[in-house]
Formats: sequence, C-alpha cells, structure tokens
Amino acid sequence: MLTRWLESWRARRETAAIARRPIPDDLWKRTLVRYPFLQRRDAAAADRLRRLTSLFLDRKEFSAADGLQLTDAMAVAIAAQAVLPVLELGLARYDGFVGIVVHPDLVVTRRSVVDEHGLVHEYEEELAGEAMAGGPVMLSWRDVRSAGRDTDVAYNVVIHEFAHVLDLANGASDGMPELPADIPASEWRATLDGEYARFTARVEAGDETWLDPYGAQGEDEFFAVASEAFFVDPWTMRSEHGPLYTLFARYYRQDPAGERPQPRRR
Ligand SMILES: [Zn+2]
Repeated sequence: MLTRWLESWRARRETAAIARRPIPDDLWKRTLVRYPFLQRRDAAAADRLRRLTSLFLDRKEFSAADGLQLTDAMAVAIAAQAVLPVLELGLARYDGFVGIVVHPDLVVTRRSVVDEHGLVHEYEEELAGEAMAGGPVMLSWRDVRSAGRDTDVAYNVVIHEFAHVLDLANGASDGMPELPADIPASEWRATLDGEYARFTARVEAGDETWLDPYGAQGEDEFFAVASEAFFVDPWTMRSEHGPLYTLFARYYRQDPAGERPQPRRR
C-alpha cells in the first residue's frame, strides 16, 4: 500500500513539476527540427522525452558565464539532449549534481602535469565542455548549437558530457557506468576493451577513423565519444562498431537505429 501511495505521490509531484516548466509547442518543434536525432518514431517515447526535458529544467540550475544571455530556447536545447541518454534509465541517474554552467564559447583553462623528474609543466587547454563528480556540468554554447547542424559528423558535446556524468556516478571515470543486472561488468569490460584496443591501434597508425580520434585518450573518453555517435548517427555506429552498438542498446535500453528513420543523404 505504501508503495502504491508513494508512487502516486511521486507521479503527482512530477506532474506538478512538468506544469511548472511547460515547453511551448512551437519551441519544442523548433528544438526537434534543430536537433533531428531527438526525433522519436514511437509517440510514447517522444512524449517521455518532452516530459523528462521539463523535469530536468525543474530540477537543474542553469547559469550563464562570460556575458552569455541564456534564453529558454538554449535551456530547452541543452535539457532535451541531456535527457536523451536517460530516456529509459530515468532522471535519477543525474541526481548527483544540479548546476549547468553555459559559456558562450570554448573555455580556456590552465592545467598542470608533473613529469617523471618531478617538474611541473603548465599548459592551456580549450574545453567545449566538462563534467566533474558532483557537478557542475560546463558547456560551450557555440558547440551545443553546432551539434545539430551537421548530422554527418557524430559530434555532440551535451551527450558527451552527460555520458561522463553516467560514468562518474558509480565512482571511477573508467568508461563503465552503473550496469543493469543483465550486463555483467566482465562482459562490459571485455567488449569495451576490445573495441578500444582496435580503435586506438587505428588512430595510432594514422588511419582516418569515423569516430572522433579524441576517443583514443582513454576508455572514459572512448565511452563518451561512442555514446555521442550512438545517439547522433546510430546507423553508422551499428555498421562500424557492431558489438559496441549492441552493448550500448542494452545499457541505454534504446535502439536508435531501429527507432528512428535514417535521414536521406543529400
Ligand atoms: Zn570527455
């Protein structure tokens, strides 16, 4: 009885949150046109995406940096892409953080590394986004916006950073998120290790790879880069990295290549 009561209480609270953050029809339609990989064939999944987007907007705190004027359209674009990976996993996967900081462009940060002689080397790095344990998630609006323009390039900074959030949620940044009971850690590791080894060998040999070569930086980056590809161009992902596509389809509980019509090439 308590469970049923709790369930109905949660449902009422969610409905109230969605009512607080309704997404106007025209804004939602423009978002789907701008980012076509958000479009769902199944009406129930399309509706769930919109509801989760409202809930995300209700639960997270957006802030703008470096003089950016944050608009509703920007927040909806970010929220809709952020919830796509957890469409079937649930928004609770993102409970570990609340803040999202949006910058107008790439962010230059100072990094330092210590070499084998104990010397500290400082360098500058340009970031399109960053996810940290406990948050906040940082995003460059220029990169968020460009993600929808060219779907031939499976590049998506929002999905990339939220894949890191999923990876970080269970402790280490190691390319392995919290897994469901039907995917043993050993199976995840074996598939990811195999695909990663093949991919890094090709990158090191100087081959032109379909996946962003940045994925060769480590298994955490490989998971994030492959997740972008899985959602943005699942058809190529399925033919280029079949075993990984199948593993991701089981993990994310989505089959985007089967759920979405493949766009015609111009
Ligand atoms: Zn990354």
